[in-house]
Amino acid sequence: MRDDTCALCGNISFSKILAISGPISIVKCGGCGVARTHPYPRFDFASQEKYSSFYLDNEAMFRMFARSMMAAIRPFKSSGSFLDVGCSVGFLLDEAKAAGFEPACGIELNVKAGLISQQKGHTVYAEPLEELRLEAGRFDAISFNHVLEHIPDVKRFLAEARRILKDDGVLYCGLPNYDSFMRRWLGKDWYGWGMPDHIWHFDAATFERTLRGAGFSPKAIVKNALYYPYSKSLRKNTRATVARIAAALGAGDQLYGIFTKA
Ligand SMILES: [Zn+2]
Repeated sequence: MRDDTCALCGNISFSKILAISGPISIVKCGGCGVARTHPYPRFDFASQEKYSSFYLDNEAMFRMFARSMMAAIRPFKSSGSFLDVGCSVGFLLDEAKAAGFEPACGIELNVKAGLISQQKGHTVYAEPLEELRLEAGRFDAISFNHVLEHIPDVKRFLAEARRILKDDGVLYCGLPNYDSFMRRWLGKDWYGWGMPDHIWHFDAATFERTLRGAGFSPKAIVKNALYYPYSKSLRKNTRATVARIAAALGAGDQLYGIFTKA
C-alpha cells in the first residue's frame, strides 16, 4: 500500500486530523472520507505473545462484550452456523454456542489465541478470511468485532464475508468510533486509535457507507461505550462515568451494526 494513496478508494488527497507521534498521524481521505493512520502501519500480530494473555487477564470484561454482542445478534438470528472472524481466545464462540449456534467457527491469526479457542472444541482457521475460500453461503451469522480497522484490503474482506454469508444471514460488525466525545476529550490517548496496528478509523457515516458499498444493508447501527470497566483507579472511574454519559447522549465511542445482504 502506498502511504499517500487511500487503499479504499484510490484517492491521493488527504488532510491531517491529529498528530500521534513522530511521523505518525491520523489523516482523512479527500475522496471517501475514511480516516487512516499515516503512514500505513506494518504490524504483524500473529506471533504476539501478549495478545492472548490480554484477553485471558480481562476475561470478565471480554465475556461481557461477548454477551452484549449476542444480545444484539439474537433478535435477527438465533441459531445456525456462526463464524467469528478474529475470535481470539473464543469468548464469543462460547457464548454463540451457549445461545444455540452450531457449529461455532472462528478465524484467528494469532497462533496462541487460536490454539486456546481450538482446545475448547471450536473449529478455528488460522488463515485470513480472504484466503480461506470457504464455501459460499455457509454461515447464518458472521461477526467481526474490532477487526475491520486492522484489514488492509477492506473491500476484498467484505466481499468475501458477503459471499460466505447465507442470503438470509446476518453480519455483526463493531469498531471504535472516532467521531466521539471520548476521542475529543482524550486526543491521541484515546484507546480507539489502536496504535500501532489500526489502519482505518471510522465514524458512523463512513462505517455505513463502507458496508453499503460492499452490498450490505443496515438493520441497526448503534453507538455505545463498553471499553471502560470500573476499577479502583479514580482516573479510570472518571473516564468510565464520562464515557457512559457521552454514550447515553448519543456520542459513544464504539459503533456496531447489524447488517443483512442488500
Ligand atoms: Zn479514500
